[in-house]
Amino acid sequence: MTKTITITGAGGQIGYAMLFRIAAGDMLGSDEHVRLRLLEIPQGMGAAEGAALELQDGAFALLDGVEVTDDPAVAFDGANIALLVGARPRGPGMERGDLLAANGGIFGPQGRAIAAHAASDVRVAVVGNPANTNALIASSAADGVPAEQFTALTRLDENRARAQLAQALHTPVGAVRRVPIWGNHSATQFPDISHATLDGEPVAERLAAAFGDVRAWQEQTFIPRVAKRGAEIIEVRGSSSVASAASAAIDHVRDWVHGTDDWTSAGVVSHGEYGVPEGLICSFPVRAVDGTWRIVDGLELDDWARARVDASVTELVEEREAVRALGLI
Ligand code: NDP
Repeated sequence: MTKTITITGAGGQIGYAMLFRIAAGDMLGSDEHVRLRLLEIPQGMGAAEGAALELQDGAFALLDGVEVTDDPAVAFDGANIALLVGARPRGPGMERGDLLAANGGIFGPQGRAIAAHAASDVRVAVVGNPANTNALIASSAADGVPAEQFTALTRLDENRARAQLAQALHTPVGAVRRVPIWGNHSATQFPDISHATLDGEPVAERLAAAFGDVRAWQEQTFIPRVAKRGAEIIEVRGSSSVASAASAAIDHVRDWVHGTDDWTSAGVVSHGEYGVPEGLICSFPVRAVDGTWRIVDGLELDDWARARVDASVTELVEEREAVRALGLI
């Protein structure tokens, strides 16, 4: 059966970078037909319509249709997958409260439209920033849809972390696993290498041989490099990361639907795991089993790691308090 995929902000850069890969089968597989619904605000409609024309011209065998709309009720009708990419960027002089309020005006109505119109099995992945809290706003507005169906993207952070570790170990990235991101998709995120493996073997000794004081390397080099990679891309490329963000969103949904053979990272609702307050959308080490994210349990966090997780979780709590104060959840 054809799957309906809704992409918001589809006329933007990340949308443009993901549409053609989804149509080619990179997200749901080479035997799954897809119907794309592109949601835009009126100013973005031209760009989305142009992308729809190009999708037609791609003559993708798996693509059963493309619709462009500025009406969330139409966009989410029957959606099995919703990629919420469009968000309000932080403008000059904008305070965090203004940003959260502007995004509440986007993600609240989208959550309501998802509850009213999407398929009961809808899987929602929020890309637009602040992704974790936007996912929380959408989930809170989506009466009757289990919170487990709303997630925030932290896979780009994980991909960046794995790539940095692979570079440090002079090895192809595919061999490096178990580098989860904890916390918020923000500068406070904690990319955790304490369980990382290379071809299934722990990397601790190799890192110690390469860097001596591994903790100092993590604090001074690895973590800042991963957390500030977005800024590095802007500096080098002249604009923000686009294709890597789109690719990570595709990785996230593909693994969610088809399952993982090892850990990955996703912002998922907390039920109190690792002391993270219930209800927050927080990034954890996860596996996808039978179409459901499961938080990896029983991991040891030493005091240093615990403090880093706590700092990022504190930021998520503050964001939740701010949107609560604004009446958005
Ligand atoms: P992009 O497509 O480049 O980015 C879209 C969102 O993804 C932004 O919130 C951006 O956050 C976020 N993002 C998450 N991770 C990353 C990353 N690693 N690198 C870069 N961005 C990341 O933005 P455009 O301005 O090109 O496009 C946005 C589109 O959304 C526009 O066409 C606009 O019209 C549309 N829009 C649609 C809405 C809707 O459908 N209702 C609502 C609002 C906007 P950050 O800002 O932090 O970089």
